[in-house]
Amino acid sequence: MSFSGKIKEELERAESAPRHCRLAEMAAIYDFCGKKSEESDGKIVISSENELAVRKFFTLLTKTFNMNTDFVANAGGYAKSGANYRLEIGPGMAADIRSAIRVTTETMRSCCRRAYVRGAFLAAGSVSDPEKSYHLEIVCQDERQALFLAGLLSSFEIEAKTIIRKKYYVLYVKDGTSIVETLNVMGAHVALMDFENTRILKEMRNTVNRKVNCETANIGKTVMAAQRQIDDIRFLIECDSFDELPLSLREMAQLRISYPEATLAELGQMSTPPLGKSGVNHRLRKLSQAARSFGYKGGEL
Ligand SMILES: [Zn+2]
Repeated sequence: MSFSGKIKEELERAESAPRHCRLAEMAAIYDFCGKKSEESDGKIVISSENELAVRKFFTLLTKTFNMNTDFVANAGGYAKSGANYRLEIGPGMAADIRSAIRVTTETMRSCCRRAYVRGAFLAAGSVSDPEKSYHLEIVCQDERQALFLAGLLSSFEIEAKTIIRKKYYVLYVKDGTSIVETLNVMGAHVALMDFENTRILKEMRNTVNRKVNCETANIGKTVMAAQRQIDDIRFLIECDSFDELPLSLREMAQLRISYPEATLAELGQMSTPPLGKSGVNHRLRKLSQAARSFGYKGGEL
């Protein structure tokens, strides 16, 4: 199952205990899945291809309102119609529900704002697999809805951005920390732990990769430097200038050629008397300068 799917299952099961929170979550699902165009006679129609959102609305409905015969109840309370799941509530009861689930940013308590975000995500949200990328979005029907939701998120200090995709206003959050905070706001605690675990592993892997790349690069540099030093020395030998060099440089040159893979420290240990890294480096540099002074052009840095 997708990461989004798991979150939605968790959110569908999550209980909104107080009545005010249940109403807020219903308000969100109604805002995002309500078919306003089919409500001319006053009924409420909830319709979505996402069964979890419709089921959650139904669950909240039965927990919050006294069901009566006015409620069009078939076996499950809602039914599949075409590609969508559909729930209809007759005009009498719909009026009560409509007035109960009216929400405004100003009057909403923090617990209800969380419940609303949860309902909105359940109805129209998705999160990409954190293994691949960090992206959480909620598809809003219009700008008003996007602004309302962005306002709720910003009350939790989560900054969401909006892009227009086709005719929709898509609210999205891109960085890992904000996604974790959004999951926290919605009460998706299991998903939050999963997300964090993946994020930690991913960052550890990146650190290890960076270190390996860095070490490989350093090894590469060392090998290239050694090769340049050997080229310089070969040139000196070939142009018969080698014997003119001081003994200390000739000794170093021989060590370098005999041990092409040795580090500067290792070359230093093999010298007589032993030398430090900077001493070795100094002599190798002298050899390069000598090669250049005899006209060697290769092995430029
Ligand atoms: Zn509440």
